[in-house]
Amino acid sequence: MSKRHVVVIGAGIVGISTALYLQKDGNQVTVVDRVDPGEGTSKGNASVIAAESCIPVATPGIVWDVPKMLMDPLGPLAIRWSYLPKLAPWLLRFVASSGAAKVEQTSIALRAALVQALPAHKELAALAGQALMIKETGWLGIFEKDEKFASYQSDLELQKRRGVDFKVLKQEEIRQFEPSLQPIYKHAVYYPENAYVTDNFALVQRLAAQFTANGGRIVKSEVQGFELGPDGPTHVRAGGDKIACDAVVVAAGAWSKKLAKMLGHNVPLETERGYHVTLPNPGKMPRMPLYSGDHSFAITPLEIGLRFAGTVELGGLDLPPNYARAEKLMIHGRRMFGELNEDGRSDWMGHRPSIPDSVPVISQGVRFRNTYFAFGHGHIGLTLGPVTGRIIADLAAGRDPGLDLRPFRVDRF
Ligand SMILES: Cc1cc2nc3c(=O)[nH]c(=O)nc-3n(C[C@H](O)[C@H](O)[C@H](O)COP(=O)(O)OP(=O)(O)OC[C@H]3O[C@@H](n4cnc5c(N)ncnc54)[C@H](O)[C@@H]3O)c2cc1C
Repeated sequence: MSKRHVVVIGAGIVGISTALYLQKDGNQVTVVDRVDPGEGTSKGNASVIAAESCIPVATPGIVWDVPKMLMDPLGPLAIRWSYLPKLAPWLLRFVASSGAAKVEQTSIALRAALVQALPAHKELAALAGQALMIKETGWLGIFEKDEKFASYQSDLELQKRRGVDFKVLKQEEIRQFEPSLQPIYKHAVYYPENAYVTDNFALVQRLAAQFTANGGRIVKSEVQGFELGPDGPTHVRAGGDKIACDAVVVAAGAWSKKLAKMLGHNVPLETERGYHVTLPNPGKMPRMPLYSGDHSFAITPLEIGLRFAGTVELGGLDLPPNYARAEKLMIHGRRMFGELNEDGRSDWMGHRPSIPDSVPVISQGVRFRNTYFAFGHGHIGLTLGPVTGRIIADLAAGRDPGLDLRPFRVDRF
């Protein structure tokens, strides 16, 4: 596909990274998005490059949590009742992928991509003159409750089998390690391989600026469909225009399902909605990102303030946000740090693109060979965005991407 005109649909971290890598190979590239770069889910994530994150969301025993998910709308994993009928087929696949053997396979696939995440981030950030945006601090998982840490042991064992580097801290080491925390934590695990981006949204914007400075085109328009020839899409239909193309990449995050279907692939894509609260002047700042093992969310010291981000709400693309979930993050945040200055606080909800087994689609099309699919990154889209872009460019150029891509195929379902 080298030196052809490629249209990338989606200007999130995945689409913009893919566009840059395709451009690096000499392709002419147009990115189409209905909003400005980074304004989708990539705008509000926790900004963590989570190399350790090889464990899928559905793990053994998740089936017993489903009633709890339905009963507690503010719990770390919740289902919106009104969305249940639509969610049911995905939920069944989600539960079906939680068996121990499947989780083991998933962790192998994810880890193969995750070990390449930080190098790809550093490569793209350097390309855009933004190397200082990547901070290699590691991150710290913290636990107040003994039973939560006890149930985390199976995660640690799985991470150990995947070669993840970590150190379990003694209770007295926790505050030396992270002095901003209240003295309530009994257990902590330090992951030195993890890193973070000082501002995830600004990173996408700056990578996009580099892409246009290199001669790439960004079109602000909604993609409605494709003109298909016998060998695949010849044009992308966006707004009132038809954009001629030699190849198409679908990187439209949580909205990719319809587009993939038009190109011959039926993918079980749902959204796990997540929330954040950002405090511009919190008065307390940890030295590195943290993860609350008790309540399943991340805390990141961004350039623009302190962000509390995470939790999962299965409620589709259209239901309005439930900002009580964001307030719940703050209740935990106040306990974590003591008094916080909440002036200028902003709350946000975003749509993680999620496949039941937590493995993204990173694949060439099977129905049409001039189509490529890069979506479904769930909780680790910021982490895997750049490496996904590199892999898609490798596939497009006919190069060996250097990892087994069978678990990521678009026709695996
Ligand atoms: C609360 C929260 C915390 C998170 N924390 C982390 C973290 O710390 N680390 C991590 O690695 N990941 C994290 N994630 C996940 C991460 O944010 C996502 O996986 C990632 O942003 C997905 O990127 P994307 O480019 O695929 O999608 P998006 O950023 O959503 O981009 C997709 C784009 O496609 C566009 N689009 C869709 N359909 C069309 C169409 N028909 N026409 C034109 N444009 C279209 C949209 O407008 C959008 O801009 C978090 C997510 C949430 C919600």
